[in-house]
Amino acid sequence: MWNKEIETMQRKDMQALQTARLFETVKRVYDNVPFYRKRLDDAGVCPDNIKTLDDLQRIPFTVKDDLRDNYPFGLFAAPMKDIVRIHASSGTTGKPTTVGYTRGDLEMWSECVARIAAMAGANENDIAQIAFGYGLFTGAFGLHYGLEKIGAAIIPMSSGNTEKQAMIMQDYGSTVLVSTPSYALYMSEVLQEQGIKKSDIKLRIGLFGAEGSTEEMRCQLENRWGIIATENYGMSELIGPGVSGECTHKSGMHINEDFFIPEIIDSKTGEVLPWGEKGELVITTISKQGIPLLRYRTKDITYLIPDQCKCGRTLLRMAKIQGRSDDMLIIRGVNVFPSQVESVLLDIPHISPHYQLEVGRNGFVDTLKVMVELEDSSLLDSFSKLEQLEKTIKHKLHTVLGLDAKIHLAEPKTIERSMGKAKRVIDLR
Ligand code: ADP
Ligand code: ZN
Repeated sequence: MWNKEIETMQRKDMQALQTARLFETVKRVYDNVPFYRKRLDDAGVCPDNIKTLDDLQRIPFTVKDDLRDNYPFGLFAAPMKDIVRIHASSGTTGKPTTVGYTRGDLEMWSECVARIAAMAGANENDIAQIAFGYGLFTGAFGLHYGLEKIGAAIIPMSSGNTEKQAMIMQDYGSTVLVSTPSYALYMSEVLQEQGIKKSDIKLRIGLFGAEGSTEEMRCQLENRWGIIATENYGMSELIGPGVSGECTHKSGMHINEDFFIPEIIDSKTGEVLPWGEKGELVITTISKQGIPLLRYRTKDITYLIPDQCKCGRTLLRMAKIQGRSDDMLIIRGVNVFPSQVESVLLDIPHISPHYQLEVGRNGFVDTLKVMVELEDSSLLDSFSKLEQLEKTIKHKLHTVLGLDAKIHLAEPKTIERSMGKAKRVIDLR
């Protein structure tokens, strides 16, 4: 463990630490951020009201639009002279939101990621190839500093230029790969095309994150690469990657609770749900100085796992993200998450893990087209086999989604590959 004292802390000690830091944070934003002062005043809350963790529930939520309304720096709680780094979200759902880090924030961020890298089994002997895009996006820098902190040798590849990634991986003997799961999948194809085999590379750990992926996808990645693949979660507004990550038991992501207080709410009513129930993740940052956020609604759907993990860590775990509430498609009144489609597709032979959903409208009726790529061209000359495959996919999707979808079987390697977060949904409505 990277930080045994924190990672195995007893619940009551953790709660005491969280309560003290929560008070400090509320005070900090009340004193320094006009937006928060007004929000808290309007809700009749002042820092002195924060005496226990339950008092958190008196604080109003913060949402992405609050960041957008105060774009770019309006929610910063530190003067610009103390800000040493600026990042922004990827902009998956609209105008990117901007965040600022003090020197202390950068240290805390590295600590978060160091723990997660160590949880996955990385150490100072590792050579880590970072294939996240370096730039305003937080992914690359977060993993970079965290892995450097544990003493790994960093290869700052950035994303793209996949042939070169493959060459470097083989020549330098990279042992850790940092990327999105979809990019790791694409890279494995390129390696294969270049005739590089599992035995030609030294990779042993995949630290994957920044987008959702299913257990089926993890299995494929582990098998294709011969690695242990762990997943980590984060978002730029909260710090970047490092909010939570899996240990090698791969049964939920341990949350760095000394820095982040998680809650799960009912997205519709805002009601706080008990641990174990599924809903929207809400996070309060309790150490960040540059831009602390109170009860930030992540729009990511998950649940908290309270029981003790086999690894001995007491840090609460959160389950794999089921989807962004933004991602949820409503098709003919039925809620559909792309992850459900992924689970179905990855279990069917002869098709590759690359897919896309196209949602349209025909008159007043929503339509769903699922584009699925054939793994190789061997089925292409047998019409009956193709027809059978299409039927199987259609049937299995219907069972899981309760919806009829039109299946489009695409030729091998024709669905667009992503270097970062994959774009799975095209909504034409
Ligand atoms: P954007 O919100 O524009 O994509 P970020 O780069 O900050 O900007 O990405 C944060 C989002 O990425 C999270 O809210 C979440 O939806 C997604 N994400 C990050 N890690 C994971 C993960 N392990 N599983 C699923 N989704 C993830
Ligand atoms: Zn664990």
